Amino acid sequence: MLALAGYQLGIEFRFFDPNAGAPVGQIGQLIAADYGDHAALERFLEGVDVVTYEFESIPVSTVRFVAERMKVFPPVKALATAQDRLLEKQLFSDLEIPTPPFAAVDNVQDLKRAVARIGLPVVLKTRRMGYDGKGQAVIRDSASLDAAWNQLAGSPLLVEKYVEFQHELSVIGVRDTAGREVFYAPIQNIHHEGILRESTAPAPSVTPELASLAIEYCRRLMDSLAYVGVLALELFSVDGVLLANEMAPRVHNSGHWTIEGAETSQFENHLRAVLSLPLGVTTPRGSSVMFNIIGHIPPLERVVAVEGAHLHLYGKAPTEKRKVGHVTVVAQTQAALEQGASEVRLALGLRSDGG
Ligand code: AMP
Repeated sequence: MLALAGYQLGIEFRFFDPNAGAPVGQIGQLIAADYGDHAALERFLEGVDVVTYEFESIPVSTVRFVAERMKVFPPVKALATAQDRLLEKQLFSDLEIPTPPFAAVDNVQDLKRAVARIGLPVVLKTRRMGYDGKGQAVIRDSASLDAAWNQLAGSPLLVEKYVEFQHELSVIGVRDTAGREVFYAPIQNIHHEGILRESTAPAPSVTPELASLAIEYCRRLMDSLAYVGVLALELFSVDGVLLANEMAPRVHNSGHWTIEGAETSQFENHLRAVLSLPLGVTTPRGSSVMFNIIGHIPPLERVVAVEGAHLHLYGKAPTEKRKVGHVTVVAQTQAALEQGASEVRLALGLRSDGG
């Protein structure tokens, strides 16, 4: 999606992915090699002006290797911080961005002490390589504490309060090489089994005051990291308070609606930021709802039949829980948005709760 936005601006691309069958090979030159293959990385960098990445689990050592030879954005520090839930939560705390109470746990005694302090329920998470709800266990009573520990022990862990939030939100900011910043309206997200299912923007539950606060938190993060590119901050909204859950140093799934739903998409703005071009306005073009397509390819003719619906398929083979595409509905009235959304849910075979 980054490249598709860039081609329109006359930008040329080369891609690097360890998987020779990566869908991006369908639209450009793909160098397929391990992230540690320095010769392949050197080949990849030949004649390139700037490098960016949109995969959060790329090894920091790979980005460092590139950074020693070439401009690469977002900065390595943002990636290293986002890859470790403890560093991430500590950064939030340092910047006075509220989070659920949390503690690092290295052994089962630590866990018991932390639970005594924080109070049940809690969620135990691996510090690294956790995404889409992987590497997490919710502990609701002390009887299940040992089972949760045994499930995840072996990796460095973090425990945090399980928050009974009203809404999950995200805010997407863009910062360029000169420190100029723009923000999209906060987005309301529905997850199921830890996977994003649905995003609505602008977030219907968010007051202007809360929107400004969410944007202020995102701004603090970007400024402190001397960030360049798109950054997403995920938040819980609990009784009018915002708690930060995690950040993503990349274009974000909850921002896919911006392709049709905003004046400038997150993808185009990310490219503008890393190329030192003027950033585009982020004004929404009405209201949008985006549905992820997960684990199956829906009947094309049914999805495209829905008025105002925009289908994106990624050219990925469907497997269980794999995101293979998305659909965005953009509408000018609430009634039209709800109508379009319910028709898309039917076409995608979704339940109304996002499951
Ligand atoms: P994460 O990988 O941390 O984004 O977690 C995936 C999803 O799990 C989140 O979007 C939430 O729906 C849920 N979750 C994670 N942490 C918490 C928490 N502390 N309290 C309640 N739900 C959580």
